[in-house]
Amino acid sequence: MQSLSILGSTGSIGTQALEIVDLHPDLFSVAALCARSQKEKLFQQARRYHPAVCGLVDPVPESEIPQDLKHIQWVMGPEALHIIAAQVPCDMVLVSVVGIAGLPAVMDALDARRQVLLANKEALVTGGHLVMEKASAIGKPLLPVDSEHSAIFQCLQTRGSNPPVRLLLTASGGPFRTWKKEDIDRATPAQALRHPNWSMGQKITIDSASMFNKALEIMEARWLFDVSPDNIQVVIHPQSVIHSAVEFADGAVLAQLGVPDMRVPIAYAMHFPDRISTGSKSLDLFEIGSLTFEREDPVRFPALSLARQCLHAGGAACTVLNGANEEAVAAFLAGRIPFGAITRTVMHALDRLPSLPADTLDDIYTADRLARETSRKYLASQEGA
Ligand code: NAD
Ligand code: MG
Repeated sequence: MQSLSILGSTGSIGTQALEIVDLHPDLFSVAALCARSQKEKLFQQARRYHPAVCGLVDPVPESEIPQDLKHIQWVMGPEALHIIAAQVPCDMVLVSVVGIAGLPAVMDALDARRQVLLANKEALVTGGHLVMEKASAIGKPLLPVDSEHSAIFQCLQTRGSNPPVRLLLTASGGPFRTWKKEDIDRATPAQALRHPNWSMGQKITIDSASMFNKALEIMEARWLFDVSPDNIQVVIHPQSVIHSAVEFADGAVLAQLGVPDMRVPIAYAMHFPDRISTGSKSLDLFEIGSLTFEREDPVRFPALSLARQCLHAGGAACTVLNGANEEAVAAFLAGRIPFGAITRTVMHALDRLPSLPADTLDDIYTADRLARETSRKYLASQEGA
């Protein structure tokens, strides 16, 4: 029996991880659950999974904790993630919060020498070098949950001493894959939230439409697998059946396939290296008929080129890209800016903040703050544009 703490338990990844717990009550118990808000959903989860500790980042008064849940230890406020990651005993911590909030949570869990299952890509985007160093120092390599990175990780299990020469990172292309640039620029939140293949949280769904999700995933792959960005090729693959692939020195390419279902990579991380049932449908290649591939289009989707530029620039460039994008996505979802302004906001921030350091966590938080301040000013100037 492995005990699991989930940071971000009410979200898309968190709830699917709990579905795996439902399927395998003999394998997993829940040590702690933490969410930002959605207290009613968290109360329901607490009743069902009996964690010892629950956290809500947006605090509620003690009087609002239902009588039947008072025996649980409740941690409220911005420290909740830290307290749960650092102090609650467990075997594994699933970090599935959104945004840079994942970085301190991952570092706390690693400091406490816990196995981290990583869904949150922003921790590696912003602090990849520090996170990888710490995971290696405690001898507990991160277990990736992001579907492409899980696919690559699975393909690498038989590598022996052969490093990959190239990663093929697949991308669905999102809802605007076939749209003209002018139409993408004017797209609405409702259109951007209509992902063709995956059902996910709002932030990552918008990022999939702009391709900033794949931009963040290039950065994530660079750190997880220690591969130069020049050896990471993005392949647009609208069917989302090949979840990614790895090429070796002899020309052999190994890919991982399946229906798009996040429970598969979540369960692989939860019970690595063994495979367990997930409730996923079986892959029917005859029903799919054909798998197709396209090159990225740097004109309609500049995010990927920006990601490579940031990785080559080093320092806190990736943090600046991430912070500016988070601010811009929030403004877009609030209906304040057109879709095209997301990319313009990121370019503006990178232009204004070209060479900030990222040697320490404090450097990274400073770069994140500066990127957000710069972007908020720019966004205010773009409203209604
Ligand atoms: P979501 O919005 O559905 O859920 C996020 C969860 O984290 C919620 O429980 C929320 O309450 C909590 N949370 C958000 N911000 C927080 C904060 N600052 N402090 C504490 N808790 C916070 O998001 P999601 O789609 O589940 O994505 C979670 C992470 O996993 C993201 O980094 C995303 O990029 C990554 N990811 C998601 C998917 C997917 O299929 N949803 C796939 C790959 C990677
Ligand atoms: Mg992914």
